[in-house]
Amino acid sequence: MMNDVMKIKTAVVRRLSAWYKRNKRVLPWRETTDPYRIWISEIMLQQTQVDTVIPYYRRFLDIFPNVDALAVARLEDVLKAWENMGYYARARQLHRCAGMIVDKYGGKIPDTLAELTALPGIGAYTAGAVLSMAYGQAVPAVDGNVRRILARLFAVRKPLDDLQTQKQLHQTAATLVPSKKPGDFNQALMDLGAAVCKAKKTLCTLCPLARLCQARILELQDGIPAKKKRPSLPHRQAAAAIIQNRDGLFLVVQRPATGLLASLWTFPGGFVEDGKTLKSDLIKRVREQLGIRIRIGEHLAEVRHAYTHFRITLHACKGYVSKETPKALACRDWRWITPAGFAVLPSSKIDRMIMQTLLSEIKM
Ligand code: SF4
Repeated sequence: MMNDVMKIKTAVVRRLSAWYKRNKRVLPWRETTDPYRIWISEIMLQQTQVDTVIPYYRRFLDIFPNVDALAVARLEDVLKAWENMGYYARARQLHRCAGMIVDKYGGKIPDTLAELTALPGIGAYTAGAVLSMAYGQAVPAVDGNVRRILARLFAVRKPLDDLQTQKQLHQTAATLVPSKKPGDFNQALMDLGAAVCKAKKTLCTLCPLARLCQARILELQDGIPAKKKRPSLPHRQAAAAIIQNRDGLFLVVQRPATGLLASLWTFPGGFVEDGKTLKSDLIKRVREQLGIRIRIGEHLAEVRHAYTHFRITLHACKGYVSKETPKALACRDWRWITPAGFAVLPSSKIDRMIMQTLLSEIKM
């Protein structure tokens, strides 16, 4: 296959570059070669759509304009700036990574693949993007979109989650990426994947690579990449206790520093174990978290949400506590708080949905 890649390399680079000049998307992180800004944009873009990222990117850089500012920031403030984008592990890793860059590299983002990929949250794709776009190095940036285009271009019929296939496509991209404007080449592939060689629909008549593309010539576009049947997501039940004190303040807890939605603020409770009843499990969870005994009252609200690996239905129930004072046992912290106070703490989407439902529909 590498012979085929070499044969068409010049034509691919020339055609793609001409197409990119006419069609490139105007994006704020394309107006800079600052590796910090490019790094932030790439981490945000990992699991979030471009249009959603733009306002977050601008706001995040207003608050944390450079790696030093991010390194000294409180994690809570970083999570707050990230709120609603989801996949909070990215924000925690960015924060940790900034500290390491300041400690180890004096605040300069490293410019080698080995150093970059040794940092938390930076894989070969992000490193390739930073090296090519900020430092002008001929390193590929290969994500799922780029793999899809290359698989079609060279009619690779194996599933793209096959590790050997991924390696082969990475090698293909490394061979194609030119030494002149490598960042533009990588971004041109990204734009082509977003606008023309899309996952579900190929617009081959608009494609600058159409005459070179084996999938188009063999009419295999719809079958490449090979589709895999996704197993259906497990569905988990969770319960939250909505506890208010005499002043109407809500009891909230900060999740542990590791695990799902780490360090975010939430209502006391957690997953309901299989075979357990919602009420008894909720009483047990609250006792484990805060060392208090509660009585469960009426069911107040139910919200549903989907995470990457499971779906969840969260039941919010009124909780009553006697005079016991909470202690932070299986949580980082706890507070009595107003809804406005909750809004300024970093919290997950499902907890904000609960608070919104409580405020709009339920008379507490
Ligand atoms: S010709 Fe069609 S299948 Fe081939 S790269 Fe272009 S859009 Fe994708």
